[in-house]
Amino acid sequence: MLFFLNFYSYGNFGYIVIDPGHGGKDPGAIGKWGIKEKDITLSVSKKIANILKKEYGFKVILTREEDIFLSLSERAEIAKRYNAKLFVSIDCNYFEMSNIKGPEVFFLSNESRKLAFFINQRINEFTKSRGITKANFYLLRNIYIPSVIIEIGYVSNPEEANLLIDKNYQYLLARGIAEGIREYVNWYISER
Ligand SMILES: [Zn+2]
Repeated sequence: MLFFLNFYSYGNFGYIVIDPGHGGKDPGAIGKWGIKEKDITLSVSKKIANILKKEYGFKVILTREEDIFLSLSERAEIAKRYNAKLFVSIDCNYFEMSNIKGPEVFFLSNESRKLAFFINQRINEFTKSRGITKANFYLLRNIYIPSVIIEIGYVSNPEEANLLIDKNYQYLLARGIAEGIREYVNWYISER
């Protein structure tokens, strides 16, 4: 199997969709110091896409590359249009109690659980994750390929909000998520 992996080009895997949550008229959660969820999700998503494309050679589509509004059904439609193989949505969390923090990965069905597992494992290497959770969210229900929603942290927690706007921390998140995706693909190939 290693022999096969060595000669497998990730470009043959098919499209991976990276989906920055919110955008345009929908800012998402407004966190400490007025930071907007839509800006953080876009910045982290672009970093993930860059690593997947430039370092690993995957074909990647971002559902949005700028500050525009997209409905949830439009996001699902993009995955369909490109006949994508994976869908990874990036979001931030918000809670009234500002002491709550930590990333969390949501999935709905079986292969998605595996994808969530690999991503969560990588994220846990540099921050304490809240783990992986099964959830019946619209996007997870309406996309028929392995898909996860990653809540990368709480903009309502001052300490975490500070990290989420930090380019180096965004890069750590992007690196962890991209590596988790690559590990999932390795697993997927080895199962064929
Ligand atoms: Zn959100």
